[in-house]
Amino acid sequence: MSKPDLPQIPDYAAILETICAEVQPLLHQGKVASYIPQLSKVSRDRFGMAVYCLDGRTFSIGDAQQKFSLQSVTKLFALALAFSREGDSIWERVGREPSGNPFNSLVQLEYEKGKPRNPFINAGALVMTDILSSRFVESDIAVLQFARMIADEISVDFDLAVARSERDTAHRNYAIAHLMKDFGNLHNPVKTVIDSYCRQCSITMTCAELAKAGSFLAQHGTIPWSGQQILDASSAKRLNALMLTCGTYDAAGDFAYRVGLPAKSGVGGGILALVPGELAVAVWSPGLDHTGNSLAGTYALERFTTLTSRSIF
Ligand code: GLN
Repeated sequence: MSKPDLPQIPDYAAILETICAEVQPLLHQGKVASYIPQLSKVSRDRFGMAVYCLDGRTFSIGDAQQKFSLQSVTKLFALALAFSREGDSIWERVGREPSGNPFNSLVQLEYEKGKPRNPFINAGALVMTDILSSRFVESDIAVLQFARMIADEISVDFDLAVARSERDTAHRNYAIAHLMKDFGNLHNPVKTVIDSYCRQCSITMTCAELAKAGSFLAQHGTIPWSGQQILDASSAKRLNALMLTCGTYDAAGDFAYRVGLPAKSGVGGGILALVPGELAVAVWSPGLDHTGNSLAGTYALERFTTLTSRSIF
């Protein structure tokens, strides 16, 4: 009887080259987010990808050293910080189910009495900001410091032009926040929460920094290069599960089908994905599909799991 094939150690450098060539025709198909006016200034033909292996090896291609707006990817940092400090009590105020609705939808909130489905849609992220605002003097600074620590990079910062641009047009997020306030699920002033949330979303990183920043979630909650424990292994496992089921909005089912990794996306065009026990991979391409996920980025990750034979399934 022949033995099943053991997984090979992939040639990541060659695989990234292949993917970068393959995505080129897709770079003109997505639509750059314009509801935050400042984001629409980014050219859509950019593409970068970076891999951070838990043994410290790194690989990158294209615009992997270019900073971009993390947007909803920062919801993962806010959740990790809130979960590490507050534990299971956060689940009294936010759920753990996919919403099946767009990330900025209001409809479910009304009939579910102001309790958001999960921490990765805007409503749930605003509750996380509220929880952090009750704990820290400035929640956005707490998230920024957390992001700098997990990326091991002091230059990580807000893009205040993006934050202002979002704040000045944040009518829908204001509506979500006011509705939750009315249901008693927002404890701080609406304006405080929106301002902090917009600054948090404006944090920029490169793909290389983002892959490194996500690596603790691939290593059971412990930062690989320092050994510092951010979350216990069980909590890290749970965040991975939430990323898989809710991390790419109402496309999470299709993303799991195509890519098969826990991931978190943002409307800046970034996606962070994890191969637990092995690596973190970040991709950036600003052209989005109709669900608000990077079109070329999703395809790049689909090819990555296919070409490396790595996925959680
Ligand atoms: N700051 C953005 C918003 O609230 C984040 C959305 C996203 O990346 N999906 O609309």
